Amino acid sequence: MAKKKWQEHGYPAQLAEQLEDKVVRCHLSPRNCKIRPGQHGFCMVRANRDGELVSLNYGRSVHATEETIETEAVFHYEPGARILSMGNIGCMLNCDYCHNWKTSQARFVEDKDVFHYTPEEVVDIAERHGIQVISWTYNDPVVWHEFVTETARLAKSRGIINLYKSAFFISPEAVEELIPVIDIFSVSIKSMDPKYYRKITKGWIEPVLEATEQVYRAGRHVEVSTLMVTDLSDSEQNARDMARFVGECLGPEVPTHFVRFHPDYKMTDTIRTPVERLEHARRVSLDMGLEHVYLGNVYDTESTNTWCRGCGLLQITRYGLNAQLVGVTPDGRCSGCGLDAHIKRVPNPVAAQATLDELPAHETYDLAHFDWHGDIRAVHVQVENTSDRPQEVFHRRVRRDNPNTGWTRIALEPQESYRFISAESFNDEIGVVVAVPNGCTSSLHQVFDRAHFPTTEAAAGTQNADITPLPLYVRPTR
Ligand code: SF4
Repeated sequence: MAKKKWQEHGYPAQLAEQLEDKVVRCHLSPRNCKIRPGQHGFCMVRANRDGELVSLNYGRSVHATEETIETEAVFHYEPGARILSMGNIGCMLNCDYCHNWKTSQARFVEDKDVFHYTPEEVVDIAERHGIQVISWTYNDPVVWHEFVTETARLAKSRGIINLYKSAFFISPEAVEELIPVIDIFSVSIKSMDPKYYRKITKGWIEPVLEATEQVYRAGRHVEVSTLMVTDLSDSEQNARDMARFVGECLGPEVPTHFVRFHPDYKMTDTIRTPVERLEHARRVSLDMGLEHVYLGNVYDTESTNTWCRGCGLLQITRYGLNAQLVGVTPDGRCSGCGLDAHIKRVPNPVAAQATLDELPAHETYDLAHFDWHGDIRAVHVQVENTSDRPQEVFHRRVRRDNPNTGWTRIALEPQESYRFISAESFNDEIGVVVAVPNGCTSSLHQVFDRAHFPTTEAAAGTQNADITPLPLYVRPTR
């Protein structure tokens, strides 16, 4: 296969062992790949170049994207916080249902989808846009180790929180390097069944559980989620095993998320997880003593809200990827009875963005409309300032019962490209409108469930009654 542009640059990799005859071994993930000169590891983003282990994806990313912290299955750390999501290329697993397979499986990555960042640029974007959390996410941050640790260290020195959303198939040595710079770990445990792990993810479960315990013991904020795949991992037994692991090996206060699956990649011949199975998994886990259990990718349920364990006060309401604090004090306690709500808060949260009733009159704007439909309840909006002067673009929600929700402003530097999520946040919400002045462009990308990075524009349409996103994976013929 011809080398793509993003693969040309090799950056010295950590956790390398030199063997004989210029062979190297990579100790970043439990695969411990032995790599000969000119070859690459299972993840396809770490290679042996003339006897040296190099990272091919250092600073090679999908577009940096502003989202909310709920996107990452993090419900107990500054609810509603805006985050800057950074995803890259490659993965140490190959799950049959991966919804980010266009970026996680390096052979499918196209140069057009790859953006180049330096650590300084990532931190600068977060600071300029008033974002207090950087999230290392999407495909999987494990295989981006050097860039993550260097950038997270810089971000931390500037007062920014780092969030790590991962399948966490990672070596203990790599975890030790993350602990000093990462504040929040959101771990996706694919199932508690070792056979399922081998067959569906191509990894194995033991290192995942060990790494999760390692960061919990180190005092980091940990939340755990599991994708309940229809008829494969959505059983009561799996829920019980998950609850037992969280309750006994971590702590009952660790938030646990049961996440709804959608058909994707090699698993399109099935249906979305029935919601009653997710609700059942939640009830079973609460009965076993877990204190905070939630559903993911499910709308119009109370099972995404947070209530006080002591007095029953509603503390946080959530709809999709949005959250509103209604009963939590600034130090994370119930505002009714004072009980510890297990909610961590940032010391000085940025104020909510002000909105405008009308667009500024001195400009003319192109408007792009997107209506929620089927299972599409969020969209990535990419805006670009192609001019040589600072510009402002705007977006607003359209609600059936409240048409004028106000315009939110985004300031763009000359030539800046910026991407952000707009997600349905009320059940009477119809869609979103984006307004760009002359010299700016916008494009819309449909998001299928949380932590999905779409590579296809909305104009390309959808497949399979909106439950399977484009692009469709085509099995290779032999
Ligand atoms: S990160 Fe894992 S899969 Fe990639 S080369 Fe290293 S050991 Fe192999």
